Amino acid sequence: MKAISMSVKYHTKVLIIGSGPAGYTAAVYASRAMLEPILVQGIEPGGQLTTTTEVENWPGDSEVQGPDLMLRMEAHAKAMGTEIIGDIITELNLEQRPFLAQGDSGAIYSADAVILATGARAKWLGLPSEEKFKGFGVSACATCDGFFYRDQEIVVVGGGNTAVEEALFLTNFASKVTLVHRRDELRAEKILQDRLFKHPKIETMWFNELVEVIGADAPLGVEAAQVKNVITGEMTEIACKGVFIAIGHAPANELVKDILEMHNGGYVKVETGSTRTSLPGIFAAGDLTDHIYRQAVTSAGMGCMAALDAEKFLAKGR
Ligand code: FAD
Ligand code: NAP
Repeated sequence: MKAISMSVKYHTKVLIIGSGPAGYTAAVYASRAMLEPILVQGIEPGGQLTTTTEVENWPGDSEVQGPDLMLRMEAHAKAMGTEIIGDIITELNLEQRPFLAQGDSGAIYSADAVILATGARAKWLGLPSEEKFKGFGVSACATCDGFFYRDQEIVVVGGGNTAVEEALFLTNFASKVTLVHRRDELRAEKILQDRLFKHPKIETMWFNELVEVIGADAPLGVEAAQVKNVITGEMTEIACKGVFIAIGHAPANELVKDILEMHNGGYVKVETGSTRTSLPGIFAAGDLTDHIYRQAVTSAGMGCMAALDAEKFLAKGR
């Protein structure tokens, strides 16, 4: 671990890293416990829900726009007294007390306890052609990029809630959406599957995987998706202008992967029934720790737990 040597700019009892449902809920609870928390928002203020439209399973709202919900959470945390800072933590030194965090802005944060709520990020297939056309027809965010595909054909890869929601959302713009999935069964919630199967603009291609994105070099742009049947090996080229990859999310563990115990492929391990990590004083909440549920409401619940765990830790004076 590199030493963080610059002078401390902020000190707080509780530093919350991340501004998704876990981070903001931790902030509300820590503020109400008079811990005067600082929350650092990271590169995506509001977290993953800012990349979607309707959220239909946040209790109390039968429908709410993801970005609006996250703005409300931010305002709530602020109103309770959290200091919210637009910065990205690039390095943590957890060997010394108080803990130190280096901000991309140059600021140094020192904290008696840290709540990690850095969430998860979209996974990619790792194809060279996917990399080549990223931002030029290949995307992992329909709400960010769907607008560019008015009356065009689009391919979506994946079979979970994200893939189905992305496919449905893209029908607002596209003339046709083909959902390519490697099995013949979706993981997505039944209500979403129902909407997908009924949609006249959506076609599903079962037992297929994307093997290459085909496109032009000048100007750079997608022209087709080459998919392969995983049973027969048959190759099919689907003409399209956009390819949306929606194959899940991986925990954003870069800050702590060499420091804290991980499990299940990179999720921060917490003691069962708590948010305590392998290092006393460091708590983790939300998608960063959760390979099973990964919902806004479960992340918020863990954020609450993290603030209560941090409060208890600080009250013991260690
Ligand atoms: P995230 O929301 O992932 O937020 C992580 C935060 O950490 C971000 O603010 C980021 O900027 C910050 N961060 C990361 N690294 C750093 C760093 N180094 N320094 C500072 N900050 C950092 N769930 C539902 O319950 N209902 C839905 O309808 C729903 N729809 C979804 C639609 C899509 C397209 C996606 C992708 C997910 C959806 N989810 C939904 C899942 C839900 O968004 C997540 O479970 C939830 O956002 C996780 O919250 P979190 O607080 O753990 O982290
Ligand atoms: P997910 O549930 O993990 O689904 C990922 C999908 O991608 C699976 O269908 C998987 O196929 C497929 N996949 C994974 N790797 C692949 C590869 N290399 N090649 C081809 N296909 C691959 O991920 P998600 O849909 O992003 O959802 C993440 C979490 O957010 C979930 O907990 C979800 O419930 C939540 N979320 C909730 C909502 C909502 O509540 N409305 C909306 C979006 C997301 P297999 O099925 O064959 O494994």
